[in-house]
Parts: sequence; C-alpha cells; structure tokens
Amino acid sequence: MVQSTRRAILRGGAAAAWVALLPAPALAQAKARIVVIGGGFAGATCTRALRHADPRFEVTLVEPNPIFTACPFSNAVIAGLRNMEAQRFGYDAIRNEGVTFAPEPATAVDAQARRVTLRGSGVLDYDRLVLAPGIAVRWDALPGYDEAAAGVMPHAWLAGDQTLLLRRQLEAMPDGGTVVISAPANPFRCPPGPYERASLIAYYLKKTKPRSKLILLDAKDSFSKQRLFEAAWRQLYPELIEWVSLSNGGKVVSVDAKTRTLVTDFATYKADVANVTPPQRAAGIAQIAGVADATGWCPIDPVTFESRLQPNIHVIGDAAIAGAMPKSAFAANAQAKVCADAVAALLHGETPPAPKLINTCYSLVAPDYGISIAGVYHPAGGQLADVEGAGGVSPIDAPADFRALEAAYAQAWFRTITAETFG
Ligand SMILES: Cc1cc2nc3c(=O)[nH]c(=O)nc-3n(C[C@H](O)[C@H](O)[C@H](O)COP(=O)(O)OP(=O)(O)OC[C@H]3O[C@@H](n4cnc5c(N)ncnc54)[C@H](O)[C@@H]3O)c2cc1C
Repeated sequence: MVQSTRRAILRGGAAAAWVALLPAPALAQAKARIVVIGGGFAGATCTRALRHADPRFEVTLVEPNPIFTACPFSNAVIAGLRNMEAQRFGYDAIRNEGVTFAPEPATAVDAQARRVTLRGSGVLDYDRLVLAPGIAVRWDALPGYDEAAAGVMPHAWLAGDQTLLLRRQLEAMPDGGTVVISAPANPFRCPPGPYERASLIAYYLKKTKPRSKLILLDAKDSFSKQRLFEAAWRQLYPELIEWVSLSNGGKVVSVDAKTRTLVTDFATYKADVANVTPPQRAAGIAQIAGVADATGWCPIDPVTFESRLQPNIHVIGDAAIAGAMPKSAFAANAQAKVCADAVAALLHGETPPAPKLINTCYSLVAPDYGISIAGVYHPAGGQLADVEGAGGVSPIDAPADFRALEAAYAQAWFRTITAETFG
C-alpha cells in the first residue's frame, strides 16, 4: 500500500519534492547487498552481526579457506602446549544463518561501480563493502627475507604451516642451541605476540633443553606489557632470555637463510632456530581496492569504519588504522560489531552514534602465568583515542594465584571469542 502510493506519486510531477521529504528509510535499502571480504575475527564477526542487525540484508562472505586457523594461542602450539586442531574453525554456523558464502579470494574491487571480482571471475555487486582481510608480510622490507627464506626461518605470524614448521624446528634443535627471534617496529599484528612467544619457547627450553638460549632482537626500545614480561622473565627464565633493544643494536637489518644468520647494525647472530617477525601491511586486496595509504594500512572514520579513501567501503581488523587500538583479535571483534551497526544505520538512513570500544590482550608467560592489558577507546580528533583513565595492565606484584587466574581468563576469552565469531 505504501509502496504503490509512493510509486503513484513518483510518476506525478511533484515526485522530486515528495522524495526529498522522505527520511531515506528502510524502504530503499531493506534488501541491501553487503559483501564482506575476509572470514577472520573481524569479517566473520561482522557478517553475523549484520545478519542480526537486519535479517533482510543480503550478506555475502568472501573467504577462500574452508577452515580458519587462529593466531591467538598459536604460541602455545609452538611451545608444544596445545594441539593445532584446537586452532581450527569452520563456517557452518555462519552458512546456517542465511549468509551466502563465496569460497574464493576477492581479486579486484571497483569502488565506483561497487563491484567485487572473485578469482573465478564471478562478480558481486554491493551497496556496502566491508574489507577485513588481515595482514600480509612485506616481503620487500627486510633484505634476505623472502618467501623461500620463510621456509627456513619461519615467521609463524599467519597461523598454519608456518606455526607447525617452527614447532618442528624447536623439537629438532639439540639442547644447548640458540633460538633467535626478531620483533619489528610498530605497527604490526599483536604487539605483545613476540614477547609471549619468547616466554613460551623459553618455557619449553627450560623443561626439555635447559642448556639452550633465546635471544630476542627488537626494532623497538619498549614494548607492550614490558614491565610485566621482564619481571616474569627474571622470575621464571633467568639467564635464558636475552632481550636486545633497538638502542642496544636489536634492529635486524638483513637475514641470510642459508646460514640462519640475522644481521643488526652492531652484530651478526647465528641461530639454530630463527623466527623472524617481519614488517607487515594490510593484505593485498586492501591495496587493490585503493583503501590503503602510503603506510600500507587503511585510514578509516572512527565512527563508521568507512574508508577515508573510498566511499561505501568499510575496513576493520588488522588492516585498518584504528588509532590507539592495537591489532588484536579482541579489537577486530569489537570493531566488527560497531561497523555492522554503523552499516545498518547508514542503510536505514540513520546517523550512527559515536561508539566506545574495548580491547583486552592476554599473554601467557607460562601455562599457569597470565598477564593482561586493557584499553577503552572512543573517536576523538578524527581517530580512535584512549579514554583517559580507563584500562590498564595487571598488577606488577600479583601473587601466583592471580597469575594463574589470568591464564584461565585467557583460555576462557579464546573459547568465548571463537564461539561468537564462528559459532
Ligand atoms: C602469534 C600471535 C598471537 C596472537 N595472540 C592474540 C591474542 O592472544 N589475543 C588477540 O586478541 N589477538 C592475538 N593475535 C592477533 C590476531 O590474530 C589478529 O589481530 C586477528 O587475527 C585480526 O583479525 P582480522 O580479521 O583482521 O584478520 P585475520 O584473522 O587474519 O582474518 C583475515 C581473513 O581474510 C581472508 N582474506 C585475506 N585476503 C582475502 C581476499 N583477497 N579475499 C577473501 N578473503 C581474504 C583470510 O583468508 C583470513 O581468513 C595474535 C597474533 C599472532 C600472530
């Protein structure tokens, strides 16, 4: 009835004035087509949240892998504390919610035509596109470190075969060997990740190869939860972990996979096992879509996560420049829900409200020793900024049962977020 009245008026001469009075409501956009590229923590969460925001939306998830392999807790796999199977998640629950699944990589985005091209040359037209493709390694950034070198000196920063390769190398290393880990300059995926990894590898070495040593070469002078990590290392792994800061010559400037050496401005380190965490950028499709800037990451509006470079494209998760928010699965999940609500509001002709987002990053220093950092963020000055006075880190002088509790919270967080993301 409403539609036929509207059509009748649109046919008449007063159409333009009448349309201007409409609040651009759900009428036009109820069947809106939304394409989400990337089925990780950001994209899969956003897909589900969009379906819940308005079941009439036609949502398509583009993701080439039938199984997602999670990075959080992959350091425990590397240390032999966890089975790789516990890291893997399928998409059945999302499919069952009425989402269309496109099991191919997206290879092109035409922002003007609002069209995504898939590798099989199929196309998807959209009203709004959400890009959540995660990161790519910058293979051009560290001399000597290319894809072949990663087969010898794994990065293990994209979970899967790389994770298992690093695990096998640690198992094969004789007692008395040297493990060298390199950490990059900011920004990169999971700022506490290299330090959690060093801790858990140290745990493994202490238990099984106690004459071994771990050197952590860092392109920074400070890092996330530093006081907590360093206190734990003094307590649990004295003499085992050596952290070399930027000022002390920790920045790796080249590597040689043939000899398993890492070169800094000051020295050359020969490793029995080398784990290189290379510089990163937003994954390739973000560059192709024209939403990444010269930094390699994607500037966004902090209320809607809409790209600052292309209209109708939203970028969430690690690929985005999210101001003070770190690149974490927790943050990706939070951004996904805010973005879904913003996209729904925009398609309903409403103004999205300014959000508040939370992040908490747990790290394990040992299986029963957890530490955490939390932050609250809001749009300020065109960016996502810290809410002053909110958040913080675990107490520096907490007793053992507090650390054990935080380790249990970490496990509970992983169970909750993967259930919320993948069903
Ligand atoms: C060792 C390690 C430990 C970590 N620990 C934690 C932790 O304890 N807590 C925490 O919160 N975070 C942790 N993280 C960080 C976390 O893994 C990332 O922040 C999170 O995965 C980011 O989510 P995302 O959706 O942006 O990217 P991803 O989860 O990587 O998902 C991206 C998806 O996009 C898909 N994709 C890419 N390109 C295309 C394309 N062209 N077409 C279609 N699909 C595409 C990929 O296949 C992938 O499934 C850790 C990371 C590492 C490396």
